[in-house]
Parts: sequence; C-alpha cells; structure tokens
Amino acid sequence: MAAQDSVEHKYVYDFAEGNKDLKDLLGGKGANLAEMTNLGLPVPPGFTITTEACKAYLATGREPDGLAAQIEAHLESLEREMGRKLGDPQDPLLVSVRSGAKFSMPGMMETVLNVGLNDRSVVGLSAQAGGNDRFAWDSYRRLIQMFGKTVCEVPGEEFEHALDDAKRAKGTQNDLDLDADDLRGLVDAYKKIFAKHTGREFPQEPREQLDLAIRAVFESWNAERAVVYRRQERIPADLGTAVNVVAMVFGNLGADSGTGVAFTRDPGSGAQGIYGDYLANAQGEDVVAGIRNTVPLQELEQLDKKSYDELLDYMARLEEHYKDLCDIEFTIERGKLWMLQTRVGKRTAAAAFVIAGQLVDEGLIDLDEALHRVNGAQLAQLMFPRFQLDHEFQPVAKGIGASPGAASGKVVFTSARAVELAAEGESVILVRRETNPDDLNGMIAAKGILTSRGGKTSHAAVVARGMGKTCVSGADELDVNVPAKKFTVAGQTVNEGDVVSIDGTTGKVYLGEVPVMPSEVVQYFEGELNPEQADDALVKAVHRIMTHADEKRRLRVRTNADTGADAARARRFGAQGIGLCRTEHMFLGDRRELVERLILASTDEEREAALAALLPLQREDFIDIFREMDGLPVTVRLIDPPLHEFLPPLEQLAVNVAVAQERGEDVAKEEALLAAVRRMHEENPMLGLRGVRLGLVIPGLFAMQVRAIAEAAVEVTRSGGSACPEIMVPLVGAVQELETVRAEAEKIIAEVVGDSGVEVLIGTMIEVPRAALTAGQIAEAAQFFSFGTNDLTQMGWGFSRDDVEGAFFWRYLELGIFGISPFESIDREGVGRLVRIAAEEGRAARPGLKLGVCGEHGGDPDSVHFFHEVGLDYVSCSPFRVPVARLEAGRAAITTTGSDSR
Ligand code: PEP
Ligand code: MG
Repeated sequence: MAAQDSVEHKYVYDFAEGNKDLKDLLGGKGANLAEMTNLGLPVPPGFTITTEACKAYLATGREPDGLAAQIEAHLESLEREMGRKLGDPQDPLLVSVRSGAKFSMPGMMETVLNVGLNDRSVVGLSAQAGGNDRFAWDSYRRLIQMFGKTVCEVPGEEFEHALDDAKRAKGTQNDLDLDADDLRGLVDAYKKIFAKHTGREFPQEPREQLDLAIRAVFESWNAERAVVYRRQERIPADLGTAVNVVAMVFGNLGADSGTGVAFTRDPGSGAQGIYGDYLANAQGEDVVAGIRNTVPLQELEQLDKKSYDELLDYMARLEEHYKDLCDIEFTIERGKLWMLQTRVGKRTAAAAFVIAGQLVDEGLIDLDEALHRVNGAQLAQLMFPRFQLDHEFQPVAKGIGASPGAASGKVVFTSARAVELAAEGESVILVRRETNPDDLNGMIAAKGILTSRGGKTSHAAVVARGMGKTCVSGADELDVNVPAKKFTVAGQTVNEGDVVSIDGTTGKVYLGEVPVMPSEVVQYFEGELNPEQADDALVKAVHRIMTHADEKRRLRVRTNADTGADAARARRFGAQGIGLCRTEHMFLGDRRELVERLILASTDEEREAALAALLPLQREDFIDIFREMDGLPVTVRLIDPPLHEFLPPLEQLAVNVAVAQERGEDVAKEEALLAAVRRMHEENPMLGLRGVRLGLVIPGLFAMQVRAIAEAAVEVTRSGGSACPEIMVPLVGAVQELETVRAEAEKIIAEVVGDSGVEVLIGTMIEVPRAALTAGQIAEAAQFFSFGTNDLTQMGWGFSRDDVEGAFFWRYLELGIFGISPFESIDREGVGRLVRIAAEEGRAARPGLKLGVCGEHGGDPDSVHFFHEVGLDYVSCSPFRVPVARLEAGRAAITTTGSDSR
C-alpha cells in the first residue's frame, strides 16, 4: 500500500500544470511561474518540485520514493522542448535550481545557476554563444563557486580570494577585465579549492549536479538565517520550500542582453508609475552584488524599445490579473524578453494602505478586499514616530521592543530627575534596571523608557504601552548603576545627561541623537488632520479603510485607561468605552503613603482614617473619567496591586532600622513598620495577597472604592451627564469570593444611587484558570466577564510575567515551542481554550452574558481575530492600540478572498 502511494504521489509539476493558487504546494515562485506560463507570458520552460517532496526529504534525510523518476521524466520533456540535453557537450541545456517557499524569504535560501556545465559542455556553451569563450568560462566558474558554497559548504571567501588573486595578477580591480584565459585559470583554481574542501573532484556528471543542487535547496529550508527569518516574520517552520528547475537564459551575452527588476507601482509610497532598475549585459546576481550601477527602468526604452514595450504590456496584464502591485524579475537574452519571476510585491506599511485605496478607485477590488490587504501591524507601524536612520547610526545594544516608537533624549536614572529635566523643557530617557509604580511620574515626564531587565509584560512595558510611550525593556547588555548615575554598554560609559536614542519597535539602542519624525496617521486620529482636505494619500486611505472596518466589525473596541486624559485620547481614537480602569494606578505618588497606612494599619481607627482620606480622591478620579466617557460604559476594576508595590522595600527598611539603632535613635515606629512589612512579605507577590483577596482581608477597602464609583456616577448624572459604571472584581477564582464582594457592594450602591437612575453592573475578571473552569458557577454572580489574559497566561503556563520573556523565551522560540510569546499573542490552544470554555459555560449559565477581554492581547492583531471567533462582545486595549483593534476587528468580520498581504 505504502509503495503504491509513493508511486502515485505527484512531486513534480510542469509550469503548465500549476497556477497561482497552489502556493502551498509549489511555493510562491513556482505557483507564479505557472500562472505566467498559463497567461501566455514568455517564461523559460521548467518544472517545480513540491514542498511535499521537501518535507519528506527533511523528515527522512532522503528523497522520497518516486521523486527521482519524476524529475527524470520532467527533465526529458524540458530537454525536448528546448531541443537540447542537460550538459550536452555540443549544445548544452543549462538549468537554474531555485528555492521558492509559500511566503517569500528573500535571500534566505539557496540558488544554483548554470547547472549542467562541465569541462566538456563549457566548450559547447561557448559555441552556442557565438564563440564567446569568455562568457562560457565565466559561467562555469560561477557554477563551481555557487555549487561549492551552497551545495558543499566550501567557504565562500576562498573563491573570493582566488578571484582577487586573478584580478591582481591582471592588474585590475574589475571582473570584466578578466579574459577567457584568465577565467579558465580561475576555473582550475576553483576546482582545486573545491577538491581541497570536499575531498572529491567537482562533479562532472550533469544529473549528479542537479540532484545535489536540489538537495541543497531542500536543506537550505533549515539554514540558520532562514530559521531566524521565519521566526521574525512569523512564517510557520513546517512549510518546506519548493524547488524550481528552470532553463537558463542569459542576460550577459552582450549589449543586447541584460537583466532587471520592475514594480507596477512604487513599493515605498504606493504612487502609480513604472519603477525598477535595469542592468545591461548582466545576470541577476550582478544586480544584487552591486558590481555595476543599474539604470532606471525607463532607460530601457532607449536601449531596446521592443522589449520595453513588451515588458510594460506584461506589467499591465499582471497587475490587472493579480489585482495588486506586482514585482517582476526579467532577463533579455539577445533582444528576447524572458519573465523570470513575479509575485504580489512587498511594500511598506504606508504603500499598503495607499495601494489598497487606489485599487478600489480603479475598480479592481472592493472595500472588503482593501481591508483584507492591510493589517494592524502595518497600521501600528504608521502610528509611531520614526527614526530617520539614513545616517550612519549603529545600535550599541538590543533589548525587547516593548512599546513601539522612536525617542531620543538625555539619560536620567531617577523619576525625580526625569521630572526636573522635563520641566526645563529637556527630552529625557528614563533608564532603570526595571521600573516600579513609583517611577510613574518619571515615566510620564520621559520621552522614552529603557530598562535592562523585564519582558513585554514587565511594569515598564505595560505602562509605557498604555501611555503610547516608547520603551525598550530587557536590554541586558546594559549594566545600569543608578546610584552612580551611569550605565555601561559595549565598553562605553553613558552618564546622566548624555543623549541616547531608543527604538521601541526594534528594541535597538543608539548612542547620540537620531532625528525623529512625527506620525501623520496619529495626527489624523487626533483630529488634527482632516482626511477630506488632507493633501495626503496615506491619511485619505487610512480614513477610508478604517471607516469600512468600523462598518463591518462586530466586536466593539474599548480602552484600558486610568486617567481622564487617557480616556479622552482613546475616545478620539475611536474607543467605545473603558474596558479596564486599573484603580491601583490611582494610588501612586502622594497617595502611596495613604495606602501604606491602610495596609499596615493595626487599629480600626488608623484604617478608617486612611480610607476616609482616600474616598474623595477616588471620587474625583472617577468623575473625571466618567465625564470623558460620557454615555459610554466604564469598567472600573477594584484595586489589584501586588502588595510589594505598596510596601517599603524590606531590605532597605531593615538597613535603615539597624543604622538608626546603631546611632542610638528612637526607632520604635520604624521597628513596628519593619515587623509589619516582614509579616506581609511574600515570596511570590503575584500569587499572593492581591485582587479580591486583598479586598476580603482589608475591611472597608473595596467598600470605599465602590462608594467612590457610585457617588461619582451619581454626581455626573445629576449634573446632566451619563455615567455607565461597571464594577469589576479582580483575581476571582471561586464564586464565593465574588458573592461576598458583591453582597457588600450592592448594599452600598443601593444606598448611594437611590433614585438617581444610575445603573451599576457588577462583574468579574476571568484571569485565574480556576475561574475559567468554573465559569458556569461564577456567571451566576457576575453581570459580565472580562478576560484578564495577562494573568490567565501567567497562571495558565505558570510563567512569571515579569521575568520569563527576557530570561528564556529565546530558547522556547528557538525550539519552536511557540512562535511568539504567549504574553503577546494569545495561545489559542491552551489559554485560548480556557477563554473559550469560560465564554461558553458562562453564557450557558447566563444567556447574553457580556464578555470582553482587557489583557494586553486585546490589542494584538492575531488575538483580536481569536476573540472575534470566540464570540466576545468587545476587546479593550491601550489607547494607541484602539485603531489597530478596530481595523483587525473589521478584518476578522469580513470573509477573505485568499490573497495574502504578508
Ligand atoms: C490581566 O491580568 O490580563 C489584566 C488585565 O490585569 P493586570 O494586567 O492588571 O494584572
Ligand atoms: Mg490581572
């Protein structure tokens, strides 16, 4: 049975047999070569070996049964079509062997050209090329070089050195000055290098060359650079590459030959027109190597009008056919145009929006398709200021791009200094080992934040994202010495006041000032640019596509915001409410001391005094936010701090007490504080007394917050506004916890709200796995659920969210345990399953239960699609992510047509 299967399995497709929709099987290049062949465009004949064959080879270390015979059959038909035989001494057929995966991975995998040349066929090639000996020997030496390097791992520089030696002997620096004899000599030198490194002669048998080259292309799927590239581009590791075997055509046969690339629109800006480069008398690799300067494609019109017109005609046909920007590689061999490759071209984020808009105008696609052609990652890129890196700037360190953007400023090491210098009008970058809530003012004052520890959900990262502030975290090459006000990196010392620049997208850190440009897309979202009037194709296109996304999406988009200012900005960005107001963020700065008093209170009086002082402050906070969110729901989460964030550091306190005792000072108060801090000290604060647990342990704390929320809502409503508060209880794991809090809260609400007409919902976060698994019970007591996917990921995986990303995720990514941090994009199978279970069981117990998500995943493009699929009502994310979530929610809602915008 197995033998029969393998005989029947089709591993090789002639170009005439494929089409553009077979990318999974034939790779992008093969599928598009087939499509062009079938459109009647002049593609050199050839065939494609499937990704299936590659996968089988990689799995077993040998070619699958039947592959060799199928290659033989297709080679024969290629030979018949060309009227030449592979490596024939008189009139050789030569082929190129090229990789081509489903998703383009430029330069990551291998190519071998001129396969079929050997000591005998080189003579035939020369005759074929009109006695052009130089060309034939140059082709042969290129084969040995490429084959040696890619197939047999001969160090490339050895060939380079031999080439340099040949040029030196000739007294020239230019390859073109080497004549046929020089190149013949070089072939000998190359063969010796080959033999020295491989222990064998360069293979003379054409079919052996072909088989080894195919094998090398298969193996290049797992080359390190390809693996790294895939990880970065989120290309799955198990797709494999196809291999294209194509009859060679030559652009280096004289002035009437050449090679070039063309784009049907500008891939940089999206502007319409003909873009590309041409190089006469050259092969494709010469263009890449930059040996000679190319000329603009338009100049081909003078050089070879017939080919130029033909090319323009094909470009128009391809764009019409693919309904998208295409990029094209072509070669002209003695006045005959050959199309070597086309694909839907890569483009910048800006061009993606502009082109999608243009294609709608041109009637080639509809708005749904335009929406499908752009994505949230592109929009996010357009929303951050950018470095103008055209100058020579080299990064000195690379951390985690924790909150995108570009920022330059003077280095400061403390929050206070950041505030001071910012008040003097300076741009500052706050540099810390890691940040904590006390750094908040400094973070607000700074242009950017740079830490040497912590991952994407570290305090610095989460807070910075919330503020839309640039942050690089976990730059562990930095040795930060806060007391000495300096850090060292790459052997250099950076002192307070020195300027650094950080790129929160790439995680790169630069010394000195890199110029920064603001984002016009943010100016548009802020209402500073009118899309109708803006003389800016990008802003118009973004406006049009966003409007369509809003019309299509089912998910609502809320924001995570703790201040009126954040709420206001998020509203301008399109937020439809607040999904998470983290009240612990309101207990910082001056109020921190009140919270400390509350937590450490040893008598009822002390505690009540602290609560009484906090109540009016909280009420004002909520009034501010309800006003900004007038008429829209505001989910206020009751306080959820890991306790250590509000207590003085134990070690520091112990040292202070010891020093004071030594000096004979009265330390009774400090000792009491130290004892209390010791009592409350936790080894794992993230799993300790926080969230609902704190509310159940400290009498009056939640009650004070509930009262402040209700009073604020009543006041806003009485003054003509409309407040829609939703009180959310954090870290619930058992329905009893929620019931206890709810009973007390309802009493207070009833008392405060009276007949004001204010309605207050009470719900819970689902962020402890147990809550997800008992969602049916919890829903009985909850009017809504909001998934706290940060903690759900932390507790679902058992990964400390502040530590693991910087610590060891590189290894997990390297091993492919996951392709992206589960803190960044929802782990659909594990944590996502908990969400799904809770959503289903929650709604089964309480039909129509309102469901949202407020973890960081709420603004992650892929995760938004998941939340759409699971049937949540809304996602909530930091203000700057709101437009991204709107766009992705729109994309999730449309049915796609299959073209890939990657
Ligand atoms: C969460 O856990 O996902 C959440 C939103 O709460 P926090 O990040 O404040 O713990
Ligand atoms: Mg949480």
